[in-house]
Amino acid sequence: MAKGIIKIGLVDADLLCNGTRHPNLVLMKLAGFLYDNGIDFHLIIDQNEDISQYKLIYISRVFTFTQMPAFYENATATQRKKFREGGTGFYANELNVNKYRFQREKDMNQLANDEFLNQYPNHRGGPRTNGIDLAHQMPYYHLYDEFVEQKVREGFKRDKYKDYQQYSIGFLTRGCIRHCPFCINKLEDTILPYSELEWFLDEERDEHGRLVRPYIYLWDDNFLASDPSVWRARLQQLINTGRPFQFRQGLDERMLAESPYGEEMAEMLSHTKYHGDFIFAFDNWKDRPLIERALKIWKHYNPNKGTKFYLFCGFMQKPDNFEKFYKDIWEIFHRIKVLMTYGCVGYIMRHEDYKKAPVSNLYIQIARWCNQQAFYKKMSFWEYTYRNQTYWEQSAGFNVAKEIKTFEEFQKDYESGYYEKLDSLGKQRKICKTLQTLLDTLEMFPEHRTELLEMFSFKMSELIDPSLWKTLKNTE
Ligand code: SF4
Repeated sequence: MAKGIIKIGLVDADLLCNGTRHPNLVLMKLAGFLYDNGIDFHLIIDQNEDISQYKLIYISRVFTFTQMPAFYENATATQRKKFREGGTGFYANELNVNKYRFQREKDMNQLANDEFLNQYPNHRGGPRTNGIDLAHQMPYYHLYDEFVEQKVREGFKRDKYKDYQQYSIGFLTRGCIRHCPFCINKLEDTILPYSELEWFLDEERDEHGRLVRPYIYLWDDNFLASDPSVWRARLQQLINTGRPFQFRQGLDERMLAESPYGEEMAEMLSHTKYHGDFIFAFDNWKDRPLIERALKIWKHYNPNKGTKFYLFCGFMQKPDNFEKFYKDIWEIFHRIKVLMTYGCVGYIMRHEDYKKAPVSNLYIQIARWCNQQAFYKKMSFWEYTYRNQTYWEQSAGFNVAKEIKTFEEFQKDYESGYYEKLDSLGKQRKICKTLQTLLDTLEMFPEHRTELLEMFSFKMSELIDPSLWKTLKNTE
């Protein structure tokens, strides 16, 4: 820890509220600036921290649902003056476009305009002589060490916290062109180069000469939609490091079909040391034709690479809007069907509005099935649901003759009172919450019952069709 007379507190509000496992890059860069200038700082990880010791406290919140820490809520009016609040969690759900624009711009510029930071020199190059240059600033990669050590002492596996310790983290580009209404980048129109890789690439080595942080992860919003001269050069730089890397926010698969360089992108990515699954997004059903064209190109060059698609859902749900709810569920399952056909996995990303949906628990159950590849790849949603039922029955000591029944078999048993009868020990089976949620959904939409059951039976092993990407013909 850097030593000095002044002490600065840094707060990752999402971490304190148990809402994230992602290190906060702005705080790490802020810590880097303080470290460069020999200013004492500390990541506050105690809800009841004595804040009298700090001159200033920078508090960052990414998620709007994050609760602010106790020491913040209980601060006196004088203590409140120490706080500098920032992050998307303070404005991301603002619906008024002008207010949103104002708050976003203010937030994006507030550290550059910070009076305290501007008293100190910028040691990292760029146009500024004083104050922090966020693009040039090297993150302080030890910021979360104390937090991780505390978790390990509490009995958690160190590996659970690898994002805090094993990665160089940064943005190579920033911005987007897609204007998705649910996204913090909805008002952006361009994608510009941001940091050079070397500005955040960590070179620390352990006593054996091995890199302490052997991996790289990128937070770029839409890397592939940047200018070809930008993505091409930066992708080559990433490849040249020899380090496994990953774009955490996913890559825009549509670019493979839209860009004249789509095949070049797919081929270049096929030669990378990619870390984990390739992640793309299939957020809107209306993109299906584009996604399918892109998938043909992608799978042609990357037939055996693990490929995952974020599936955004739950946006603008309302308790009494049944039609909107049904449409959202329909689109989730049909996006999944496309992905299964191309041998790809989905990952449900729920907007917090899902909690207001008529059967909100259905989103939770679909996510539990879809986001665990062992279930998604082997079972249909119905099979997963019924396996939850028999798992409950087995745990409760019932005899289970068949772990997975077809829906028709279940229905026959259900109608004959199988789940209400007492067994030989006088115990009664019950319907588990997962199954009840599915039944509630069927009951809510009797007119869509057949279609729902068909969607619930989509199964990867039955849908996958490698002939779709054997040749690149018919990608138009
Ligand atoms: S493509 Fe991604 S980054 Fe761009 S606006 Fe849509 S959700 Fe946001």
